[in-house]
Amino acid sequence: MCQWQALGYRYFPLGLAMRQTFGCNVWKVSVDAGFSCPNIDGTRGTGGCIFCSAASFAPSRRFEEKRSITEQLNEGIKRVKRHYQHRAEKFIAYFQPSTNTYGEPEYLHALYREALSHPDVAGIAVGTRPDALPESVLDVLERIAATYYLQLEIGLQSIHQKSLDFLERRHSYQDFLDAYERTKRRGIRTGIHLILGIAGEDHNDILATAGEVARLKPDCIKMHNLYVVRETRLAELWSAGTITLPTLPEYAALAVDFLERIPPDIVIERIAGETDSAYLLAPSWTAVKHRARNAVDQEFRRRSTQQGIFAGL
Ligand code: SF4
Repeated sequence: MCQWQALGYRYFPLGLAMRQTFGCNVWKVSVDAGFSCPNIDGTRGTGGCIFCSAASFAPSRRFEEKRSITEQLNEGIKRVKRHYQHRAEKFIAYFQPSTNTYGEPEYLHALYREALSHPDVAGIAVGTRPDALPESVLDVLERIAATYYLQLEIGLQSIHQKSLDFLERRHSYQDFLDAYERTKRRGIRTGIHLILGIAGEDHNDILATAGEVARLKPDCIKMHNLYVVRETRLAELWSAGTITLPTLPEYAALAVDFLERIPPDIVIERIAGETDSAYLLAPSWTAVKHRARNAVDQEFRRRSTQQGIFAGL
């Protein structure tokens, strides 16, 4: 029996994985290094993914004034400590908005090292796209990962080309596989971001993604429901009634179907998206913290199952 099962969890949660790794409670603090994205600057496209609104992902993008990584960490750590007091002991600096490997290797190295030099920071997490991982950037990541805790998080969203096209990701599943395999070969801890409930995907499509992700064995998975924020092309489709979004019970059932097929040693970083209600249009349940997590827990209990029960079947 896995430790998470013995402790009564239905899946392997990030908080527990962090305590196992660091021996204390570790929180992620988002930092914005001001990167652009190949899907925005014209390299791949100019419109971005249809759901993308950098301002809704990171508070930092709502302000004109740019602050250093250290300043952002100081503020973020203070904010988390105010909310969670003694429970927050160490922090992961999470390079979150946009494409955080999209720069010159020396520049990236300096940014990551600045975060790692903060006395409360135990490691870094770096979010990126599959098409922004040239060998020169992997050299930097590998060098850092040899000494520090580093987790690379690659956005995939779906293995299905029709979904990648709908989301206007402007990369293929093959692009992802290429980047993922090159990253894993270097021994870099790697996570995958996925969206469940993409318009046009049926149940079999989602199970196929689960089966493929189980085969790839990433270190962690971050799951999002498809949600609509203001000033995106997805918002236009939703307002026109072109797409429907899963209800909370539908999403919980999808998430559990998915997790039942994911091996038990893969960490589940997030069960569903969370965003600022000032930006959110739909679904309304996304605005209430922990609502999706509670619904997924309830669905697991109703079925008497847990993560990985059907993995490899
Ligand atoms: S890859 Fe990320 S930052 Fe770039 S457009 Fe898509 S969601 Fe936005």
